[in-house]
Parts: sequence; structure tokens; C-alpha cells
Amino acid sequence: MSRVTGLSCRECGTLFSATPIHVCELCFGPLEVSYDYEVIGAQVSRASIAAGPPSLWRYKALLPVEGDRLVDTHAGWTPLIRAENLGRALGLRDVWVKNDTVNPTFSFKDRPVSIAANKALEFGFDTIACASTGNLAGAVAAAGAKAGLRPVIFIPADLEPSKIGAASVYGPTVVAVDGTYDDVNRLCSEIGDTYSWAFVNINVRPYYSEGSKTLAYEVAEQLGWQTPDRVVVPIASGSLFTKVWKGFNELLKLGLATGPRPKMVAAQAEGCSPVVQAYRARTLNVQPVRPRTIAKSLAIGNPADGYYSLKIIRESGGDAEAVSDAEIIEGIKLLARTEGIFAETAGGVTVATLKKLAEAGRVDPDERIVVYVTGNGLKTLEALAGQLAEPIRIPPSMSAFEAALTRSPQPVGGR
Ligand SMILES: *Cc1c(COP(=O)(O)O)cnc(C)c1O
Ligand SMILES: [Zn+2]
Repeated sequence: MSRVTGLSCRECGTLFSATPIHVCELCFGPLEVSYDYEVIGAQVSRASIAAGPPSLWRYKALLPVEGDRLVDTHAGWTPLIRAENLGRALGLRDVWVKNDTVNPTFSFKDRPVSIAANKALEFGFDTIACASTGNLAGAVAAAGAKAGLRPVIFIPADLEPSKIGAASVYGPTVVAVDGTYDDVNRLCSEIGDTYSWAFVNINVRPYYSEGSKTLAYEVAEQLGWQTPDRVVVPIASGSLFTKVWKGFNELLKLGLATGPRPKMVAAQAEGCSPVVQAYRARTLNVQPVRPRTIAKSLAIGNPADGYYSLKIIRESGGDAEAVSDAEIIEGIKLLARTEGIFAETAGGVTVATLKKLAEAGRVDPDERIVVYVTGNGLKTLEALAGQLAEPIRIPPSMSAFEAALTRSPQPVGGR
């Protein structure tokens, strides 16, 4: 018996067969993969997972991939780090950082793309495409290269040059569109109606997004099959946010993990915070915005999963907060200087959001909190231009060095 029962409509519940579709024919609601948890429960255990590979494929029994022909870029199974220094700086006693900066293309997007690329092959597509805020471009280009699928990437033309380079190296077709991500996405929907391509965040989105569940599975397994009290997750479209929630709930339902249903904290950049604005206004209706932030990987003004994210914030007893560009940079520096992890702007967003909540007394200092750090700082070096101390330049003499030493910064981490 198959563990995947089909695609179900998140609005009306109608079940469709598992094909490359993403909206309900009856009500235009979004579709999501639906499972038979009795079948999964009979196939999977903590021991069977632990015996699996050190990648997200250890959770294959919980993912919608059939067969054995895995396009494997070895995404996932990234470190979960006890962040004692960061916690001390924030006055919190049990903070952990899920370090997804160390994925194959340096962001968590390798996780959903691993599922999307395998489904693209299963469905017989020859081209894998995406609308990207940056990191997805690199992940799709790399997986396409590995899978022998032609990658076609669509990006907003104002993307960070280093992110364009980090995708172009894999040899995809890169199309830079004059407009925002939301313009790019609209164009891609049109292209998807004409070309029979696997658009990872359009027609194969239901499968793609399931890959993000592994960020919940790994955290629970790495905590000894315990769920944390609270998690801080960045939101662009809200896909990651909704799937982290789904992942924790599945583990609890299957009895694989024990503990609370985590309080879900949504983190956005103030310059693109439609979900946080709706949360503040106590509504589930997201008003689209025009993004203006250095956190370009999160710059989606009209988030497809915004409404569902807001429902989850409510249901989990969670929270939502947004931070300014200056706070994002402070967040990047704080994480780097306390934990030695260099995050991109999205990681600055989650760290700065936790700082803001801690300072406002909106978290319990004793609760176990996991901060998701979803992308690598080397991809957004531009964001730090002019924000860091210059090297101390000296002539090659001992006295010049000793004079310079008196001007050098002191560590903030450690004891
Ligand atoms: C894409 C992305 C996210 C969140 O994306 P969703 O669309 O909300 O799933 C978070 N962090 C980084 C670094 C990203 O690239
Ligand atoms: Zn429907």
C-alpha cells in the first residue's frame, strides 16, 4: 500500500491523484500531499530512521518520493547547535541554532528542491524551473545539473550579484526579470501554462514544500526525539513555516517524538512583513506589500501561505515579529560573534526577532527555543558593506603591531 493517498485541497478537502497539479479544480484552493499515517507508522521507527543516511533521505518514509532513483545532493542532516553564548547574550537559558547554512548550495532550499527534482524525474519532465528570491535559484540549478534536468531560473533583476553567481555556476538558463519577486512569480505561472516544465514552486509545489518538513524532523531527532517549546522561523511565502509545523505534528502523531507542540514564531523583515502586519492587526487576511528590505531572500510581498501561517501562529500559541534592516545586520553580527556562524540576512532576521522578543519579555527564559538559520552569509556579503571594521593596516614592524593591538576588538562569546 502506498503511503501517499493523493493531493488534498486545503480548503474543501477534495482528494486528487498525485500528479503535477497544485490548485483544486473545484475551489482553486492550494493542494497538499496527504498521507496514510497507518501505513507510514507500520514502515517507520526511530531505529529505522537512525539507520538511514546522514541526509534528509533518512526520512524518506515521511516524504512523497516513490522508487529508489534518488537525485541526491546530500541535503540536510545539518548541525543543531546548543547556542550557549547567544543565549547568555539574550538572557535565555536553552537556545539552539539549526544551522542550515551548510547545505550543498548553502541554504535550506536544497531540502524542498531534493523532493521536487525527484518528482520531476518521476513525472517525466526534462526541464526544472523556478521563480526565485535567490537561494532557490542555486538549489534548482545544482539539483538540475545532478539530475540531468535542464534548469531554467527566473529571478528579480535586482538580486544580489553574489547570489546570481552562486546559481549561474551550475550552468542554468538565468532569466532576470525587471520587477519584484511577485512579478516574476506571476510571469512564471503564465509560462507554466504554456510550457510543460516542472516549476518547483508552481506545479510541483505540493511535493517541493514537503521537503521543508525535514527541518522539524531533524530538530526533534537531534534533541533526542523531543520537540522544543518554541521555534523561530523566517517567512517569505510561508511554505517553510507551515511545513515545520506539519513536520512536528506528524512526529507527535506517529509517536516518534514526545513533547509539546512548539509555539511557532514567524520572523520577517520590517520592509516586507505582510504576515506580521496581519498578525498585529489580528486578522488572517494578508495585505500584499511592495518589498523594501536587505533580506531579499524573504522579499515576497504576497505570500502564498501567509493565511495558513497566521492560522498556525494562532493555533500553536505562537508569535510574530518583524525587524528593521539595521536590526538584521546586528542579528547577523550577534550570531557570528557569539556562535561563529555566518548567516545571510534571513538568519539575521530570526536572530534579531528572538532578541526583540527576549527584550520584550515575550519568551520564557527557561523554555527550549530553536532558531532556524536558513542561509549562508557568504551569499549576501553585499549586505554588510560598510558595516564591519576595516582590517588594521600596519607597516611590517613589531612596534606598529603592538600599537595596533591596543585598538583590536574583544571577544563577546565564551566565558
Ligand atoms: C526561501 C527562504 C526562506 C523562506 O521561504 P518560504 O517561501 O517562506 O518557504 C527562508 N530563508 C531563506 C534563506 C530562504 O532562501
Ligand atoms: Zn478545493
